[in-house]
Amino acid sequence: MKLELSRIVQGCRLGVLTGLGKTGTHSLEFPACVLYTRCASVPHLTQDTLRTLGGLPAVTQLTTATLAEHQEVLEEFKEGARRFAGLHDTVLFSSLHDPAASYPTGHVTNKTVSVWGSGGRIELTVDRYMALQAAIQPDWYQSMSDGETWQQNTSRKRVRKAVDRTLNHLDECLLLHQKSQALKQAEIFGVVEGGDIQEERLRSARETAKRPVGGFVLDGFQSGAMEQGMRSQLIAAVVAELPPDKPRVLQGVGCPDEVVACVEAGVDLFESFFPYQVTERGCALCFDFSLESDPESAVLESNEDRPMRERENGADSPEIVGKMTRFEMDLRDARYRDDFRPLVAGCDCYCCRNHQRAYVHHLLVTNELLAGVLLMLHNLAHYLVFFSTLRQALSQDRLVDFKRKILQVQINE
Ligand SMILES: [Zn+2]
Repeated sequence: MKLELSRIVQGCRLGVLTGLGKTGTHSLEFPACVLYTRCASVPHLTQDTLRTLGGLPAVTQLTTATLAEHQEVLEEFKEGARRFAGLHDTVLFSSLHDPAASYPTGHVTNKTVSVWGSGGRIELTVDRYMALQAAIQPDWYQSMSDGETWQQNTSRKRVRKAVDRTLNHLDECLLLHQKSQALKQAEIFGVVEGGDIQEERLRSARETAKRPVGGFVLDGFQSGAMEQGMRSQLIAAVVAELPPDKPRVLQGVGCPDEVVACVEAGVDLFESFFPYQVTERGCALCFDFSLESDPESAVLESNEDRPMRERENGADSPEIVGKMTRFEMDLRDARYRDDFRPLVAGCDCYCCRNHQRAYVHHLLVTNELLAGVLLMLHNLAHYLVFFSTLRQALSQDRLVDFKRKILQVQINE
């Protein structure tokens, strides 16, 4: 893997990762998101449906949390999660927790972390964690980490312990990594912890950077853990300690305004669980990020005055649904019953090319599974174009225009 930086604009890194994957033929331009999956597939979508979308990220994220209960089957299968799940040629990044799901805290020990599958808690030692990675056969994987420091008011002592444990896990993972045949070509990513304590963040970053890692995972910054101002300040301090030629992946942040702020702080890669959460809420992403000025349609959209809702019902997993944001429209709302426009005018996805808001509204209120398929297609398409437009804005020195659209405020240049 090689990281080439083409430019740095107001802290934002624009570049490309090349030589990715087993064959070294994949590349990924960043800032970007990796493709979110649960149990190794994009929720609601088959591989064929997924492939109707253009510009899919070259890197697919698998979570150990959703694969841990299939360990024995994967080990028996022997050919890794890519073949097991029938994934097309893609670079696999295996991470620990599912960013879209919440999980109970208080189950971390010095030697173990826990993940939750459909059958309950699975306790992972470093040995078991590494056996799982060997069964998954990823191209990149994060080392085991203690990330339970994101709750506010976590004590300094607990944060220090999380940093120590995570470094110990990394050293143990590295020892096993070097001996593993299955992981011979894989890159291990070190995890930076430290909660909201700058001193611990810096220690975690410096120590992790001393180890032979292929990249860095920034953990404990997820939405709800801290204000964006503090997140940006801590991330900027952390990345200043990291070598510039290795990628930085941020976990748990997906909302467009937070993504832009974190890119400005020096993050390269994000997870794409946000479009999935929006889909589970029965909503469609509809925010404007175009660099072309089209004052008429912009006014039209902003005058729509969309209703905001905090919904509890209508989903199998309420913890995944989260709160509705101003970047989406609630298609369950009765106002869309006879709205025959596409979800977003000009969107090139299958849903917007073939269906109207009224139809998706109808599917949602009648609990048809196709609603999730169409919304997921649209939301993922919208989110991917958001990232490609962000890269375009950086390459054309138009970050200010882009931010003005995303934040919907006047920004002083
Ligand atoms: Zn669409």
